Amino acid sequence: MPSINPTNPASPSSYLMWFRRDLRLKDNTALSQISEIIKQSATQSKTQPSELTKLVKPPRLKALFVVTAEQWLQHDMSIAQVDFIFRTLKILATSLFEQLNIEMYLLQSATFDSCIPVINDFCQQHNITHIASNFEYEVNEQQRDSALEQLLTKQGIQFSQYHDQCILPPMSVTTNEDTMYKVFTPFYKKWQSILETSTPTLYSIDKVNAALSNPDRLAQLLKDIDDLHQQTLRLFYKAYSDADFIENDNVNNQLLNTVRHAYPAGEAAARNQLQQFLAEEVQQYDIGRDQPALEATSRLSAYLTIGAISPRLCYLQAKQVLQAIYENNSNQAGITGQTSGAEKDVQRWISELAWRDFYRHVIFDRTDIVTGNAYNKIADEKVNWAYDQADFTKWCQGKTGVPLVDAAMRCLNQTGFMHNRLRMVTAMFLTKDLFIDWRWGERYFMQQLIDGDFASNNGGWQWSASVGTDAAPYFRIMNPFSQAKTHDKQAVFIKTWLPELRPIPAKVFHDEAKLRQALSEKGEFANVDYPQPMVEHKQARLYAIEQFKG
Ligand code: FAD
Repeated sequence: MPSINPTNPASPSSYLMWFRRDLRLKDNTALSQISEIIKQSATQSKTQPSELTKLVKPPRLKALFVVTAEQWLQHDMSIAQVDFIFRTLKILATSLFEQLNIEMYLLQSATFDSCIPVINDFCQQHNITHIASNFEYEVNEQQRDSALEQLLTKQGIQFSQYHDQCILPPMSVTTNEDTMYKVFTPFYKKWQSILETSTPTLYSIDKVNAALSNPDRLAQLLKDIDDLHQQTLRLFYKAYSDADFIENDNVNNQLLNTVRHAYPAGEAAARNQLQQFLAEEVQQYDIGRDQPALEATSRLSAYLTIGAISPRLCYLQAKQVLQAIYENNSNQAGITGQTSGAEKDVQRWISELAWRDFYRHVIFDRTDIVTGNAYNKIADEKVNWAYDQADFTKWCQGKTGVPLVDAAMRCLNQTGFMHNRLRMVTAMFLTKDLFIDWRWGERYFMQQLIDGDFASNNGGWQWSASVGTDAAPYFRIMNPFSQAKTHDKQAVFIKTWLPELRPIPAKVFHDEAKLRQALSEKGEFANVDYPQPMVEHKQARLYAIEQFKG
């Protein structure tokens, strides 16, 4: 029922959709559910008219986003992601306004703690009686939400939260003993079997508000978003580089220019990307996904991370492609019982979506991981991690002397993105060749990646450092030279990011000994301005194995 302001029974109450990492209209669980609640309450008022309810207008739905820039900095959000969020917000605010008659409000507060009274005040001013949002599973986010809920409950304001970030929500994929899976493969089997029997449905949203009376509000809101966008970028530039942020300064803003071009904002752009990927690129995914030069992956991670696209939509559309392949295969050649290449490609892609779910389930189950602990604490504590700032800086800057590692790191620094295999190679190099604490690398990645996402990033780092759920066995250490030979044979990727190596044949720098020789004083490429590999991989590998054996 719409609640009534006792001082003015005709004053309409409002409901509030609080957007966080779900910046879309389509298949947004909380948005759809709160609009459903409003519709039902309006129907109830019609069917049970009383003198009082006749006076009360149905509640309006409003939308909110809170910029918590200091908290984002504490969480190591990258400049690329900050920029992506603000660009997406403008599109979201416009769509809400134009398609659904919903006004969005933008608030700012330094941290999650300080945003609690700010949201509470907003609720009082706008006579909010019910807030809806989608769960965020990290620790600070959960603490913020429960503190806010306590405060709101005291004032009679309802706070409803919904699972939305995963295809299957945390704790819905469990063992027969009702516990969380500790490794991915059995989790994935169960995940698949649940989805085979209960296909997820997509949430829709209809207009619940009457037309907005003040269209100038949108223009003002877009201006406010722009102003706060610039202000927040200035804060982040200062924090990360001590540089001033000046919009349109093409020299200093190369990264922003690159990401703005590579990642057009908004849910329509995300859905286009999904459709294009499933129509064309997915066909070479199983093999192509390991070759960075091919760019054969979907590049949807940034959109998924800020919620500009729903993972359920990705899953369902991929399943449709799979279904079409099955039908085509059985029409053409009868059922062979064998999995075709095309099926493998799509299935493989779906399994990556499952990894994303898995890591979210892990942090939901093991909250201690969010505060810096390894999944496998015993393995982590056995290892005597190094904290050498000079070595770490070389890795960050792509100056290790190991071509694939350096190319990957320079690509990350300049584009805000790194290919999955290269994330594994660079993470293994930091943790197994330089033996630096994985937490340093995890943090650096978050500060650079446009798709920086706590659960997936932490999972990837713990896997690489052999301290996580499915951790790579400690003795299986990627050799960055043979990885380059296998996955970048012609060195197309390496030479793109390390132009200084273009004169050197790929076969030379795919072999550590030959590279050392070629770059040495008397070597054929002594004049090339590129450092010798900073560690000898074979030696480093033996040292790492000794450490893990304990
Ligand atoms: P695709 O290959 O097209 O995969 C589709 C989607 O599946 C991705 O968009 C992503 O949401 C999900 N996915 C794919 N691989 C993984 C994986 N291994 N783990 C979890 N989800 C996956 N992913 C992030 O989204 N954010 C991160 O901060 C992040 N950090 C990582 C750090 C390390 C050390 C490692 C090894 C992996 C990390 N990943 C992270 C996972 C993976 O590298 C990226 O999701 C992927 O490269 C994104 O490219 P794509 O969208 O083209 O992926």
